[in-house]
Amino acid sequence: KVRTRFAPSPTGYMHIGNLRTALFTYLIAKQNGGDFILRIEDTDQERYVDGAVEVIYKTLKDVGLNWDEGPDIGGPVGPYIQSQRMGMFKKYAEELVEKGEAYYCFCDKERLEEVRAIQEASGIAPMYDRHCRNLSPEEIKEKLDAGVPYVIRQKIPTEGEVTFHDELYGDITVDCSTLDDQILIKTDGMPTYNFANVVDDHLMGITHVVRGNEYLASAPKYNLLYKAFGWEIPTYIHVEHIMKDKQHKLSKRDGDASYEDLMKKGYLKEAVINYIALLGWAPKGENEIFSLEELVKEFDIHGLSKSPAIFDPAKLKAINGKYIKAMTPEKFAEYAIPYIKQSVHREDVDLNEIAKLLQARTELFTEIPEMVDFIDALPEYDIALYTHKKMKTNPENSLESLKEVLPVLEGVEDWTEENIHDALFDLIGKLGVKNGIVLWPLRVAVSGKAFTPGGGVEISYLIGKEDTLARIRKGIE
Ligand code: GLU
Repeated sequence: KVRTRFAPSPTGYMHIGNLRTALFTYLIAKQNGGDFILRIEDTDQERYVDGAVEVIYKTLKDVGLNWDEGPDIGGPVGPYIQSQRMGMFKKYAEELVEKGEAYYCFCDKERLEEVRAIQEASGIAPMYDRHCRNLSPEEIKEKLDAGVPYVIRQKIPTEGEVTFHDELYGDITVDCSTLDDQILIKTDGMPTYNFANVVDDHLMGITHVVRGNEYLASAPKYNLLYKAFGWEIPTYIHVEHIMKDKQHKLSKRDGDASYEDLMKKGYLKEAVINYIALLGWAPKGENEIFSLEELVKEFDIHGLSKSPAIFDPAKLKAINGKYIKAMTPEKFAEYAIPYIKQSVHREDVDLNEIAKLLQARTELFTEIPEMVDFIDALPEYDIALYTHKKMKTNPENSLESLKEVLPVLEGVEDWTEENIHDALFDLIGKLGVKNGIVLWPLRVAVSGKAFTPGGGVEISYLIGKEDTLARIRKGIE
């Protein structure tokens, strides 16, 4: 049975790259009818942040990545919090010692530093010099009996090559001579991160590991560990980084890097998950809009890319806009009205009417307050707004149009959208001009904006007759 795991370190926020790892991991499990496991890797105490585990739970639940086993719900292979597993690793390292795949190392800090200094001075990459690798059983016993502190190191073959297979990168072969006899168990009896990770994945029966490719370099060592134990090696899929641009990784500083950042900016979680799936994965067809259930069916590791994915806020926004358009008008209004209320306080306008106009033009809810602030009061605006190339308008012909529009709208008795529309199109017909020549200046005069939730007719209707006429008069002044 397929079993995958998401193994985040609790940092207090969910980086987009980690959320993507969680998503891919979840998708692989679910499309194979497997289990998705949550394991918290909290052994780096320096990075410990209060409440950070809750952030992980909340984010995953929010976006629907529900786990089948985890710290809060338990499961057959717990505990699921790494710090609660710390006592279990030493016996596995000792098993390797017995098999001749690992050894006790009693070198102290001073000696290791000396070796390192000499290596560095002669331009050799610093590595443990394997001093304790061939101690005799008597020497070892003597030191253990004397209570000399020790670590347990992996006995890496001194010759030959090791080949590591990654689903995405293929076979990666390295010379064993370039690999350090890495520490598995530290002097305090606790495992190193890499060792704990391998043993945990095995004990938890993990079949597929998705992780960032910063771990690719340690992968051959993982392989040697699995071999040393005689354990089955899981399928590895290392994914590329998410970049801000060609040179820079998307970092916390950018303000787009975490799930929390994107929520604060008003993105819909469905759109965020959809967009994140596309970071480094290309669907087969043209369609890029997928719900989580659809992703379970569509996702295919063969569509993953080996080049870094660039985080494109414009694309995320466009996808968000598609999710907004697909909402029912009622649901849209429910989301939009709190934002409308941030800048519309007058009581004679119908917030639902505003919402109706907004739905087709909203890509991000947080942009709504600015889109509708003209309703309360006409903002200061630049006369250059009257110049619109496609509409063929400029400040001069706009002024002429507004002078024609004013009496026509004054004459509209019953202020309905239809009546305003008919009166204006009547005028357009009489003047024999393109629609834009009349409607663009009206829109600018009424809103002081180039981008409004509706055209000239709709927004005039929205703010009422009196205000419309007053704003046109102001435009003519
Ligand atoms: N705890 C590691 C991280 O958050 C995960 C490593 C792995 O998936 O193997 O980066």
